Amino acid sequence: MQAALQKEQLHSLLSKLGYHSIPIHTLVVFTHKKVNLSIDHPDIITSQLLPFRLKKLSKDFPNHILTMDQLLTLGKELLALNSEKNLKLLQDTHIDLRNIRRGVFCPKCKPIVMKRTHGGWVCPKCNYKNRDCHIYALIDFIYLFGEFITNRQLRWFLLIDSEYTATRILKDLGLKAEGNTKNRRYNLLPLLKFQR
Ligand SMILES: [Zn+2]
Repeated sequence: MQAALQKEQLHSLLSKLGYHSIPIHTLVVFTHKKVNLSIDHPDIITSQLLPFRLKKLSKDFPNHILTMDQLLTLGKELLALNSEKNLKLLQDTHIDLRNIRRGVFCPKCKPIVMKRTHGGWVCPKCNYKNRDCHIYALIDFIYLFGEFITNRQLRWFLLIDSEYTATRILKDLGLKAEGNTKNRRYNLLPLLKFQR
């Protein structure tokens, strides 16, 4: 959905600049070395596959629409329009955040969200109980937002109300913390070894 939206925006930007009817093909490319995709889709790939995908795509689009000079000019125009944008994803009510499915999923009947009980998780549908299911949700968090998480972000992402429970979870995972009490964040990277 995000790629489709960006495609529309790029189309309208190119039209404004006077470039019409350039075909745009969107790809979702994961750059993290340890990403393990369970999606089988030619346009949702890891960065290792990108050169092969590009090769295939240039075969699919054999007609040259712009000359090399035009392409270089367009590249300069786009670069001139580029400006750095700081994404404070978890602070803003950013449109993308609403598309993210939060919660701890039951491994047996995903996407059912499990409920937190005393020291563990239970699935309201199949009653499956497990203490560690949040680990897989936190691995998803790494790929979405990066390796650091705060207590507040953890509560938001795992759908937990209690700060105490969130602290408990972070403590039990034995994650390294950094920053003072107010800005403390935890490094999630050691969780990647639990990747399914
Ligand atoms: Zn279940």
